[in-house]
Amino acid sequence: MEVVVIGGVAGGVAFATRLRRVDERANITVIEKNSSTSFANCALPYNIGGVVNRNDLIVASPEFLKKRYDLDIKTECEAVSINRDSRTVQVRNSEGEFAIPYDRLVISTGSIPVEPAYAKGVDGVFTLRTLSDIDAIEKYISSRQVSRALIIGGSFIGLEAAENLKKRGIDTTLVEAGSQVMPALDPEMASYLHETLIENGVRLKLDSKLFSISRNDDGTICAVLNNYEKLTMDLVIVAIGVTPNSQLARDCGLELTPDGHIITDDNMMTSDSCIFALGDVASVNFRLTGQRKSLPLAGPISKQVRAAVGYIIGQEKPFPGVLATWALHIFGMEAAGCGLTDTDIKKQELNDLCSVWLHNLNHASFIPGAEIVHLKLTFDMVTGRLMGAQAVGKAGAVKAVEIISTLIGTSSCVYDLVEREQAYAPPVSSARDVTGMAGSVAENVIDGLEKIARYDELTQEKFKNAFIL
Ligand code: FAD
Repeated sequence: MEVVVIGGVAGGVAFATRLRRVDERANITVIEKNSSTSFANCALPYNIGGVVNRNDLIVASPEFLKKRYDLDIKTECEAVSINRDSRTVQVRNSEGEFAIPYDRLVISTGSIPVEPAYAKGVDGVFTLRTLSDIDAIEKYISSRQVSRALIIGGSFIGLEAAENLKKRGIDTTLVEAGSQVMPALDPEMASYLHETLIENGVRLKLDSKLFSISRNDDGTICAVLNNYEKLTMDLVIVAIGVTPNSQLARDCGLELTPDGHIITDDNMMTSDSCIFALGDVASVNFRLTGQRKSLPLAGPISKQVRAAVGYIIGQEKPFPGVLATWALHIFGMEAAGCGLTDTDIKKQELNDLCSVWLHNLNHASFIPGAEIVHLKLTFDMVTGRLMGAQAVGKAGAVKAVEIISTLIGTSSCVYDLVEREQAYAPPVSSARDVTGMAGSVAENVIDGLEKIARYDELTQEKFKNAFIL
């Protein structure tokens, strides 16, 4: 069997190595347009801050993959088209173009950072997606005096870049077009991250859009915001999101979602039964709504790989889809989430959903060092089914979300959260941890034992004489 994989980093290499482990005979070719394979995308910002060495960003080199897994790795080789009739991929390298035949083709071409027209071609303005981006940023920083950096975009990459630029002693301003950072959090949960950023010296400018960027005569960069404020900077990182790298799939007529992700089934099969898609370029099932979702995160990839490989070798292991579980760590603060947010709930008019908020310590209060975990739990008032969680705190936030995400994955209810048996010792937990407490409060609300009001409802007339417990 001839198997060709386009893309030699997270999804592509995970697929190729898994297939090799279960099939000794397949001829597996990996086509990668850059010179490196399998590098730690997620660690790129930490290289800027000096936390991770450049060499340690490489997880598996082409030589290692060839020797250890008997893969035919073709680096600096770009797939330029797919011919579905002849089942060939046309590739281009420094020597010219040639066709590679396939029985099964896997597309894991990732995503492309959004680069606004105003930022293109301006010296000192970078995106943060590849090793070349990191090398270019490093070269730029070490070749001149960089004391002021501007980050455009307040999601994962922008926030991690802000932390790491600060670690490097660079004065950092973060501009975000929305009214909050981290759109995967609801506003009241994101506000804890705003505090963290400000406390750690990041100048945070919300509701601010970049209008233009240009070079001043003295070599500095002039960034103009939509309110005409002018910022003088030495370096700019644009992190305003990504789009799926799906042009090859579009050109060969595979079915795409309106926003350009390749549509896959639960075996990661595309609309062509010989072609599979993985990772950022694929659209997958959002388990809580049954709708298509794109989730440009590394977490779900290993499960997608098991599904695609399983199908190809005749042992199906369908990928159920995603719960949109994520984590972030900046300036010593954890943030995490899974499932539905208020934005999803409003968009889909899921009127039976309700949330409770808890602010509990991550371990017993009498042991020094306990930290508050802010947790929001979302559930269905009628069925009690768990539908989402968001947490922020110095310690314990990711753990809380992972517990709830696991239970959502098994269609569990708030009652299961109450009944979950915990591992308890005072230095590491509480006799009833924040997730168990959240389950109990949610149960009280469902049973009508407790009435809750959102913080932004308290000004309403009906609460004028309320006693707030
Ligand atoms: P990639 O890993 O991007 O690989 C795609 C590869 O395809 C690229 O190497 C590209 O050169 C190659 N390619 C594209 N087109 C062609 C072509 N025509 N021919 C040949 N080769 C081609 N996720 C998390 O879950 N947690 C995190 O903390 C996290 N942090 C991140 C931080 C940063 C800075 C970045 C950039 C990403 C982060 N992610 C994180 C996201 C995660 O890295 C991606 O979801 C994951 O890498 C996607 O895997 P992929 O295989 O789809 O694409």
